[in-house]
Amino acid sequence: MDIALLSVSMNVYSTKRIAEEAQKCGHYIELIDHTKCSVKLGMDKPRIYHREEDITNEFDAIIPRIGAKVTRHGVAVVKQFEMNGVFSTARSLSIARARNKVRTLQIMARKGIPIPETLFSINPDNIKEQIEILGGAPVIIKIQEGTQGLGVILAESKKSAKSIIDTFYKMDTSILMQEYVEESNGEDIRIIVVGDKIVASMKRTSELGEFRSNVHRGGSTAKVKLSAKEEYIALNATKYLGLGVAGVDLIRSKKGPLLIEVNASPGLQGIEAATGINVARKIIKFVEKNGLRKRK
Ligand code: ADP
Ligand code: MG
Repeated sequence: MDIALLSVSMNVYSTKRIAEEAQKCGHYIELIDHTKCSVKLGMDKPRIYHREEDITNEFDAIIPRIGAKVTRHGVAVVKQFEMNGVFSTARSLSIARARNKVRTLQIMARKGIPIPETLFSINPDNIKEQIEILGGAPVIIKIQEGTQGLGVILAESKKSAKSIIDTFYKMDTSILMQEYVEESNGEDIRIIVVGDKIVASMKRTSELGEFRSNVHRGGSTAKVKLSAKEEYIALNATKYLGLGVAGVDLIRSKKGPLLIEVNASPGLQGIEAATGINVARKIIKFVEKNGLRKRK
């Protein structure tokens, strides 16, 4: 198969690993930097260019690895491939849904997937009351489109929460407020779903004195055994967002597992190291199963 790997650089562990496994499986794979792609629309069939090269009919499948910074353009390029009938491991709509935490949580709440109590607003006039509606301090404040733990703040008191939220509202930054699940103890669970199967999972534990368990914030990883409920949440969250490949994040609370976010381009380094599982290979096998069927 001819596969396009939509990513800005080959110097990223996950990108390298996916390319390596595709080649080992006998496929042609090319790095397509979506920030260098143009789409031409008009009376003729829409055409997709990578720099000056017309790549409209070059690929059987795409694997989008769209980072946080150029989501909007990346999603539009993915959408065009989709409309041209090319298989994608992540639909454009699904990438957009996963990118925004509020949008993800709205879908989860509607589908009955357990999530932490969450409130979003843009009204600066009654922030104290909003905190009370949520259940009072301490609260977690999150930038809606943050990643890697940056933009996640723990406000211990109502007073500090108010001043932080005031600032975000002034800056026109979209945030959400969330109950602080203290008993999760700085740990979360990352579950990788490919197709309709869980292929790997790990527990991340935060550094001492830190509540965010992100590996980028110094978190360490270990193998973990999932409960049936956790498996159910991961598989269904992925299905409801419409993703082919997903990294589902849960925290363990007194009320049971709670979904906090879903990543449409989950990193492979931490999970492959923690579990010894060849996740990149599983992604290629998934593409093999679905890719040709669409185009031919
Ligand atoms: P990011 O997209 O930046 O990774 P997350 O929502 O995943 O943002 O939050 C980062 C980390 O903070 C999580 O992995 C978890 O360890 C911790 N965390 C997030 N939300 C809560 C919460 N409501 N209660 C307790 N800890 C949380
Ligand atoms: Mg996270």
